[in-house]
Amino acid sequence: MIRRSTQILTVLALSGLLAACATSPTGRSQMILKSDDELAAQAAQQFAEMKAALPLSTDRATIDYIACVTNYIVNELEPPYSDIEWELAIFDEDSVNAFAMPGGKIGVHTGVLKAAQNQHQLAAVIGHEVAHVTARHANERASRVPLTGVGVQVAAVLLGGGNQGATYTAYETLKAGEALGLTLPFNRGQESEADVIGLDYMAKAGFDPREAVPLWQNMAKESGGAPAEVLSTHPSSSTRIDQLVSRFGSTLPLYNEARARGLNPDCQPPAKIPGVD
Ligand SMILES: [Zn+2]
Repeated sequence: MIRRSTQILTVLALSGLLAACATSPTGRSQMILKSDDELAAQAAQQFAEMKAALPLSTDRATIDYIACVTNYIVNELEPPYSDIEWELAIFDEDSVNAFAMPGGKIGVHTGVLKAAQNQHQLAAVIGHEVAHVTARHANERASRVPLTGVGVQVAAVLLGGGNQGATYTAYETLKAGEALGLTLPFNRGQESEADVIGLDYMAKAGFDPREAVPLWQNMAKESGGAPAEVLSTHPSSSTRIDQLVSRFGSTLPLYNEARARGLNPDCQPPAKIPGVD
């Protein structure tokens, strides 16, 4: 068994891919396989396809509102994430959903405004999505998915002999897994981590982190079992709330510091929330 895993690592190296152990912002160890640049390029392409295929909001007030909150959060990021070009797409979709992709692509469905009832609550959603990007969750996920396939494929080819064949198969398997890695839901650990980091982000930007509690309660209520990214694989609502509340001791000082620095966001919600009569 040791021999087999050595061979898999060799094959990966031959494929020109770099496998690395990394540490997430909350100290969790991560397996990062893909280059961040490569993943960002793929995400940019997929994001462009989504923008072409799905209806984008044309409501100026809605766009300005979501962009305002997003700007406040992105402006407080540190390098390297303060240096990337964040892009926000607002989809005219009733579903309560939002998502983020490597390279700084954020998608928000207008239906989110049914759950996010003020700028602080919207900031909890945006902070959570930005955290998925800065914690490199998609890279971790894209790395996890094809690795499983590589193990199986390479073992099969090696039984038949021929190192060239093994290299080719591993490479092809990784390629085939890429789209999958970009679209699968995040796992529970990643969702919890995005909550924790997102809470810090909203607080640093001057949004009240305590509003994350009603936000996630509204989310659970509004989505009604729909497969929202922000809910799909998350621990139960009460576990999520408990975790958020347990973080207030460290996030409230961040919020107070931001306010003391003069950060006092005043993003105005649209007079009419899409999908709400
Ligand atoms: Zn999430």
